[in-house]
Amino acid sequence: MGQDPGRHRSLRERAQDYWDARLSSVPPFSAEEYFALLLDRALRALEAGDGGISAVLSARCHGFEIASFGRNTIRSQRNPLGHAETNAIRQLSELISLSPHAREQSISTWTSPLDVLRSDANIFTRKIDDPRCQSILYTTLEPCPMCTVATITTGVSSVLVAASEEWGGALLSGRLGSLPTAWPELAESQGLRVCLASSDPSDTASFIPPELTSMLSEALLANRKRLDDQVRQGGILSALTIGEALAELVHRRD
Ligand SMILES: [Zn+2]
Repeated sequence: MGQDPGRHRSLRERAQDYWDARLSSVPPFSAEEYFALLLDRALRALEAGDGGISAVLSARCHGFEIASFGRNTIRSQRNPLGHAETNAIRQLSELISLSPHAREQSISTWTSPLDVLRSDANIFTRKIDDPRCQSILYTTLEPCPMCTVATITTGVSSVLVAASEEWGGALLSGRLGSLPTAWPELAESQGLRVCLASSDPSDTASFIPPELTSMLSEALLANRKRLDDQVRQGGILSALTIGEALAELVHRRD
């Protein structure tokens, strides 16, 4: 469980009120639809003791979308690479490497956003009335350098970010240019587009309502200090943690 179950429960209750009010009428493929579902994934992360951060990679081609939902798993899986964006990308790449039959078994059908909200699956597919091939990453927090490099290497067409992150982010406000030259150069050659979600309803491609933005921010901040402190004090896989696991192994073999 997270650090403050009462607060998390109330955030989930408020999220449920928002989903009840909005989810049935939100336009398919809108930024609000993705971020409404990402709020649930961020809360699942928080409830597992992880950072309340989530991302979905929407890969579209030939009139179909495959959407891979990832959430932060660094603490629950003791995985330093378990950032939301990295998990979304990894799940999609694992899916693509399966046989066609296994691939089909691994994908859930998305007919309504409630299918995603109520499901434990991470990968969904649905038809889209647009034959273009593109991939869009929606993320609740500006990606860190690791996830930025993974995003560029993946060949993502555009990234929509709900909250900017001056301290650890690497994509917005010229921060991409502060990475080693390879990454801004590769991003530019691909034509990678990056933008921050908008609170202006006329900005249809990137609008998310302030109420949703505020809950997403609350989710990502709720467990943050605790996780940052753990990294500051030796890391998710600190020598101490590894030492304990090894000591147990040695003890079992004695
Ligand atoms: Zn990251």
